[in-house]
Amino acid sequence: MSKIISDEHVEQTRKLIEKNNKIVILSHVSPDGDAIGSSLGLYHFLEKIGNDVNIIVPNAYPDFLGWIKGAKEIIVHEKYPDFSAKIISEADLIFFLDFNALSRIPALAEYVEASPAKRIMIDHHLDPMIRCHVTISHPEISSTSELVFRLICGMGAFELITKPCAEAIYTGMMTDTGAFTYNSNHPDIYFIISQLLKKGIDKDLIYRNVYNNYSEDRIRLMGHTFKDNMYVYNEYSTAVIHLSQEELDAYHYKVGDTEGLVNIPLTIRGIVFSVFFKEEKGKIKISFRSVGNFPANKIAADYFNGGGHLNASGGEFMGTLSEAIYYFEGILPELVPYLKRKEDK
Ligand code: 5GP
Ligand code: MN
Repeated sequence: MSKIISDEHVEQTRKLIEKNNKIVILSHVSPDGDAIGSSLGLYHFLEKIGNDVNIIVPNAYPDFLGWIKGAKEIIVHEKYPDFSAKIISEADLIFFLDFNALSRIPALAEYVEASPAKRIMIDHHLDPMIRCHVTISHPEISSTSELVFRLICGMGAFELITKPCAEAIYTGMMTDTGAFTYNSNHPDIYFIISQLLKKGIDKDLIYRNVYNNYSEDRIRLMGHTFKDNMYVYNEYSTAVIHLSQEELDAYHYKVGDTEGLVNIPLTIRGIVFSVFFKEEKGKIKISFRSVGNFPANKIAADYFNGGGHLNASGGEFMGTLSEAIYYFEGILPELVPYLKRKEDK
């Protein structure tokens, strides 16, 4: 396996873990498979070596991640605001996993800022923006979960990876690569999977737990989205889907039900950019996905106050759903320079 995390960072992390017993792992708002997988992977390792460790996330994670061992122990700040604030205030060491800016943990940022705890970031987003004692930031790596595996192995602790730890890490690696269909060409990924299999994980079962675990409502919501709420702008190789709060309510929306919808328009021949506008608590949350060199993160940052990865990013819009889509349609001609290389698809 090639070396990604420097010896210095591994050593600094090892010392901080040794010296500080009370550890809190934080991950980002609307936690996804990599947020939960990397957090639980690290959690199981730290528990195994005897640390007192808690995971806190700003809001609920999707049901399809609930099977991972330890998931029930995750503290959801929205549910237990006072308790999570207390846990952060008592921490000696805080890990930031799978995010690079305090704006990604909105309701928790004030407690983190007030805490004197040491800080370690493990992340794969461009431009880390939180001041930390150790910043392990590798945008070239497809998941934070993979970085957690590399960090543990860097500390010479492969033997301490338990099956639940391996399952969590595999889940994050799988979900951040669309089950190894994008950002997944590095041979090390498959070496790591082979090592996780040696820990006894059932990768086929993990796939089914995550992807074949939806409600009937979700499938009907999908049907509605693609039949009634999809626009295809062939001249711009772009597709848009949208869902209002009213529509989500009509299909008894639960967290996770819209996960992955934005990827589906990319299966239309010639489409390289897919955008999903979703009404959420008085604003519009937007997910962007692209293929090849089309910079989804640049569109998110330039026009929707967001960011993310080249092929998967997000942002938001203050206004109504139709205003957001109207604004986006105005931007379409500005996508042309990025579309030149669509033959790369
Ligand atoms: P999703 O579409 O799954 O919500 O987000 C995809 C990726 O975009 C996330 O992994 C994250 O990197 C990024 N992202 C989503 N929303 C935001 C946002 O509001 N701000 C920033 N900076 N990044 C976001
Ligand atoms: Mn990630």
